[in-house]
Amino acid sequence: MFCVECGAEEELVPEASLCIDCYLKKNKIAWFPDRVKITLCPTCDSFKRGERWMGHQGFEDLTGQILDQYLELSAAVEILDFKVVVVKDEGNKMLLDYELGLWLGGRKFKHVAKLELIQIFHSCDTCSRRAGTYYEAILQVRRNRTLSDGELDNIQKKVKDFVQSLSRNNRNAFISKTLDIKGGLDFYLSPSSAGRELSKTLSASMGGIVNSSSELAGRKDGEDLYRMTYLVRLYDYGPGDFISANNILYRVMHMTKQGAKVRHLVKGVTTTVPHNSIQLVGVASEVAEAVVVSQGQNEVQVMDPEDFRTVSVLLPSDMLELGETVMVFKKDETLYLVPRK
Ligand SMILES: [Zn+2]
Ligand SMILES: [Zn+2]
Repeated sequence: MFCVECGAEEELVPEASLCIDCYLKKNKIAWFPDRVKITLCPTCDSFKRGERWMGHQGFEDLTGQILDQYLELSAAVEILDFKVVVVKDEGNKMLLDYELGLWLGGRKFKHVAKLELIQIFHSCDTCSRRAGTYYEAILQVRRNRTLSDGELDNIQKKVKDFVQSLSRNNRNAFISKTLDIKGGLDFYLSPSSAGRELSKTLSASMGGIVNSSSELAGRKDGEDLYRMTYLVRLYDYGPGDFISANNILYRVMHMTKQGAKVRHLVKGVTTTVPHNSIQLVGVASEVAEAVVVSQGQNEVQVMDPEDFRTVSVLLPSDMLELGETVMVFKKDETLYLVPRK
């Protein structure tokens, strides 16, 4: 038999009249959808498949179930085996390489299918039934400016990790439900001390203030039972954002209880400014990449990424060595260099 494409005389892919190499050039053989979202139970780790919750025996089993459900496969190929390599793990977002051993037209070969996996955490039916009505505290996280998906994911991950590690020694540690509230999240959880600890760590790492209140929830064993609410009000700015304090522009490096540790946008030096003097002027996602045109001793010429004009920018003291491109933040028609993370 001859391949109709290249004329090679070898075994052909059934019903394609093509040799294997030509078939691979012309056809998608194994691929995932652009991004796959899966729902996992934060308490028991089970995984939602369609409308049903399924258990799994660890990562290998879970990635196998994901393959069964989401991998698209050309009809001519069969899967012999697979191995999963974690390329990037950001907790709620993972990039995975599925190294597939495939069988096509009498030959075994390797093929990599890339998968962007988004993990969403929601209590499964069993766990929510078991715990749904019981909680000792509500942890509320709020901010006036809408929290980005990344920030929401980050908060969910912190809360989940904390409660999960606590649950190793405390069977009464769990999140009974998580609610998406416009502008934030509500966690119904137990024990109460977990809510208190989490309100402290979240407000310290993201910057914010905590208010707590209690409510009589009933009596248990002759004692009054209180439910606590910990409200974390996050400041409108956080690490990576741009602020103004006393008319000077800074970038927030990290948050402390007293203020924000910041970097002077022009001079590149760091200092701490108190929260009551801070105004948000730009968010982290406004940073853009700009091409370096030329570099002098104290200044650099870069191409404005918005209008492609060449402009001079003073070199901050902490950024004397530049590459071919730099990261810039634009405010009131002025560009500022910002270090890459
Ligand atoms: Zn061919
Ligand atoms: Zn569960």
